[in-house]
Formats: sequence, C-alpha cells, structure tokens
Amino acid sequence: MPRKIDHRFDTRAMHVGQEPDPATGAVVPPIYLTSTFAQEDFGVHKGYDYSRAANPTRQNLEATIASLESASRGVAFASGMAAFSAIVTRFKSGDHLVLSENVYGGTYRALTQVFDRFGIGCSWIDTTRLDNVRGAITSSTVAILIETPSNPMMSITDLAGVAQIARERNLLSIVDNTFMSPYFQRPLEHGIDVVYHSITKYLAGHSDIIGGIVVTSNEELADDLAFTQKSLGAVPSPFDCWLTSRSLKTLGVRMERHNANALRLAGFLVDRQEVKQVFYPGLESHPQHALATRQQTSPDGRPAYGGIISIETGSLDNARRFARGVKVFTLAESLGGVESLVNHPATMTHGSVPRQKRESFGLTDGLVRLSVGIEDVRDLEADLDQALSGLK
Ligand SMILES: *Cc1c(COP(=O)(O)O)cnc(C)c1O
Repeated sequence: MPRKIDHRFDTRAMHVGQEPDPATGAVVPPIYLTSTFAQEDFGVHKGYDYSRAANPTRQNLEATIASLESASRGVAFASGMAAFSAIVTRFKSGDHLVLSENVYGGTYRALTQVFDRFGIGCSWIDTTRLDNVRGAITSSTVAILIETPSNPMMSITDLAGVAQIARERNLLSIVDNTFMSPYFQRPLEHGIDVVYHSITKYLAGHSDIIGGIVVTSNEELADDLAFTQKSLGAVPSPFDCWLTSRSLKTLGVRMERHNANALRLAGFLVDRQEVKQVFYPGLESHPQHALATRQQTSPDGRPAYGGIISIETGSLDNARRFARGVKVFTLAESLGGVESLVNHPATMTHGSVPRQKRESFGLTDGLVRLSVGIEDVRDLEADLDQALSGLK
C-alpha cells in the first residue's frame, strides 16, 4: 500500500520511494543494475527502455529527495557539479546570473572557466544584503543563485527575501542546499524555485559516493531537467542511487548529531585564544544569527545550524600546524560525512578562486574549515584541544 506523502519528514525519508518490492515482498527495493530493458514489441515496454533515460532505482531516490525538499520532482545526476551544470544549460548566450560571492569553489570555476565560453555572464556579490541583490540585477539577468550558509565563510542569506526579489523581477531563484540538507533547511518552503545538492555530502553522508540532484515543483522546469539528464547523460549509477536511498533513512539522526556536536565545538573554539575568529551561525556573535535561527529549522521547528565550522588561525603556518596536529579529524576535501574532516579552503576546495577575490570576503590563508562528524564529541574536543595547543 503506497505510503501517505503527508507523513512527517523522518517517516518519508524511510518510506517514500521505498515501497516493498511487489514481486517478492522484499522490504528493501532491489537495485536495478541493468542498462537496458526487454521490449514485447517495437517500442512496447513497461515504461523503461534504457537506463540513461530512466531507471527504477534512480526514480526511487528522486522521489524520496523531492519529498524531503517539499518539491514535486527530483532529477538525479552523477555529481553535484553535474546537477548544477544541468541547471545552467537552461540559460543561453547573453544571459546574466547574480550569485553569492563565496560559493563552492567548483561552482566558481565552472562559471568563470567553462560557462563563460558560452557567453553566460555573472555578478558575484554579498547576498547577505538584499539591497546588493536588487542592485546587481540587469536587464539580462535571468536567475539568482545563492548558497546559504555560504562556503566556507558561513554567512546567511535571507531565502524568503531572495525568493520575493526573484518573483518581482521574473527571475529563477536557485539555492545550493548542500550545507544544511533538507532536514535543516527547505528553501522551496521559503518560495525558492529550484534547489540542488551535492549528494556526496550529507545526503549520502558516509564519504563513499559522488552524486547530485536538482529538485523543483516547477513541472516545466523538471521536464526540461529530465530531458537534459537523458540528453547530456551525466546520470548516477543505480548502485550509487541505492546507497544514497539507504543513507537517507538515517539523515535525520545524523543531522541532529552533526548539529549538536558542532554547537558544542563552536562554543569550545570561541573560548580559545589561539583561534582568532569562529564562523558558525549558531553563535550569538554571528552577524546573521537571528536570520539563521528563523530560517534553518528541523522538521519539528527547532533552530539548527549544521555541522560546518570555519576558524581563523591567523596564518598559513598556523593552519598547517593545526591540520598536521589533529588525529581524529582527517585532512581531506569534502564534508558532510559521518567522520570529522578538516579542510584548508585557500589551497584545497577554493584553490581555483583567485587570492585577491577570496581575501576580499575573508577567505584567508589562515582559514580552516571543519566538517564536524558524529563521533563522540568529547574525543573531537580533546583532539581540537591538543592540535590548537601547537599554534603560535
Ligand atoms: C561538494 C559541493 C558541490 C559539488 O558537488 P560534487 O558532488 O563534488 O560535484 C557543490 N556545492 C557545494 C556546497 C559542495 O559542498
């Protein structure tokens, strides 16, 4: 019997798109590891003809994530960048985008080194101030794309405010929701048109696959994205989709723990004199703490701030000392997995953003980004404690 879509978040994470298999009763739907499907006659089949166009395991995943994001449709891709690129293929030469100035480094690279060849223009601005957003819109602007919290400075943009500006000016509003996951932030509920994710991070959550997805309730746009998925072909494998579906069942419990651990560590870090500044929206000293408290909420309405903390160590030397000093945290790209990671944005995730550009918004050589995992927080705190004591 199909499950009700008006069930609550954690129930939908478990059951939407995850019906027991009608053929065998298997509680977990099987993986359809097949590239093609038998046809009874020319073009007569059961709705599937080739797995680039459609695959049941992929459709199950798309249904679950769409439901969790309060969207009607989801279109899955082979990576977060493939999901983002599929959105950009909506635009044409001469079109202009307004974007948050500190976005994921790969997003900046794709727009400035690939899509610029196709004549798509960009303005990179501080979207924490809605006046800046209004001021950057030109007669060629077609969309506003934001990341909130931003990567890696953790600044917060007003989702409802951006959605309203976009509606007034007839622009598409797009949000990269990778940092919060739908458990802590559902931009469509604030009026945003399109959300995309790097599934690689919290949605998959175990640092073992690369994936992406776009969700929307705009049917025309969803049809177009599905057409792009089939036509350009950056599809995820059925196996990766299946692993992600498995991961989504624990999204809520994982996010609660990421959030609780990060809140505690942020409190610990602000008291350390070796740390010059802590960037975490859960701190009352964060400039957009009130906005974060309003807009980032668990499905039952409690404010949440996520699992990412950036810290300013004061110098490249200190950043390196710290990264070499940690023993439970692992120095690695990426975030959102169950294990804690430390990243040096200037040389790693944001290495493709020019120095002058990144320093203009605070991304210095001394900045370190922590992805707080779900280990015992006492071990994480002790690890930071001993690594910080080696700094100057
Ligand atoms: C990792 C990441 C991406 C890119 O996703 P991939 O799965 O690595 O292609 C995009 N946006 C954000 C915020 C990310 O953290």
